[in-house]
Amino acid sequence: MAEVIDGRQAAAVILDSVRSAAAALEAGSGIKPGLAVVIVGDDPASHAYVRAKSRTATECGFRSVQHTLPAATTQAELAALVAALNADPSIHGVLVQLPLPKPLEAEPIIQSIRPEKDVDGLHVVNAGKLATGDLATGLVSCTPAGAMILVRRVRGEDLSGLGAVVIGRSNLFGKPMAQLLLAANATVTVAHSRTKDLPEVCRGADILVAAVGRPEMVRAEWIKPGATVIDVGINRVPAPEKGEGKTRLVGDVAFAEAASVAGAVTPVPGGVGPMTIAMLMANTVIAAHRSAGWAPPEF
Ligand code: NAP
Repeated sequence: MAEVIDGRQAAAVILDSVRSAAAALEAGSGIKPGLAVVIVGDDPASHAYVRAKSRTATECGFRSVQHTLPAATTQAELAALVAALNADPSIHGVLVQLPLPKPLEAEPIIQSIRPEKDVDGLHVVNAGKLATGDLATGLVSCTPAGAMILVRRVRGEDLSGLGAVVIGRSNLFGKPMAQLLLAANATVTVAHSRTKDLPEVCRGADILVAAVGRPEMVRAEWIKPGATVIDVGINRVPAPEKGEGKTRLVGDVAFAEAASVAGAVTPVPGGVGPMTIAMLMANTVIAAHRSAGWAPPEF
């Protein structure tokens, strides 16, 4: 039976370090890390994420600011808010919750955030630093950064000689995850919807990372015995056993099957999910340290 990787516990460790680093920075420089979260419209799932982010920021000892804008907000109004947050010295991290309601365009907004404040790690400057192997001066996208910490917990810092397969090639997750694995010396394959014989490709992986958005797509026979399986997917599926109209969350990996073959596997929920928010806090405290001219903590 596989080790179940406890993302909640790993996230709690990160958040403890963030709190200590924030307290030391404030005591030594008077600077309190500031995180601004911007949400547009009234998507309930997005509001739940934003509430959790704002609450965690406060728990970390940050200045936590939330801007809630109506769905009718124009592109220019949203851009003006981002410009104001870029110019505000008390704000070290700016996060615009995605997706934005139509017809707002996310990309120009994301690219208008100052790279030093881009705590989601989505700006081309931060993506470019990661792609060129500069892990020291940019900000890494939160979910891959968190997933990588879980991989390191099981496999250590140096993945030399290990094969990794990432299913999914999004800018948000798949590509940065592949870069992080490569930087740790894994031999990396990035699979996607056009990959031929995906189960066969996956069976070669010592580290298998699934970020697809398809409930329980990865089956036991896709997994190499002893592999480390990181499930990034968050899918809500009907759960009639819990009552009419009820739902439950599942990942992209069939968990019980995977646990019978893998060496270690992340659950959903309680795996990668809690790491995402912890790494958002980590990025904010890193950004605040840099703005103070202090060496940032490492996670
Ligand atoms: P995305 O942008 O929709 O990308 C999905 C990727 O999966 C694409 O590269 C797509 O290939 C690939 N794909 C789709 N169907 C496939 C198939 N049948 N076989 C192989 N590959 C297939 O999604 P994302 O933003 O990366 O997110 C992926 C999942 O992670 C979602 O479930 C999302 O909810 C979850 N997620 C979780 C967190 C967290 O905090 N835990 C954060 C972010 C995302 P093509 O490029 O060829 O279309």
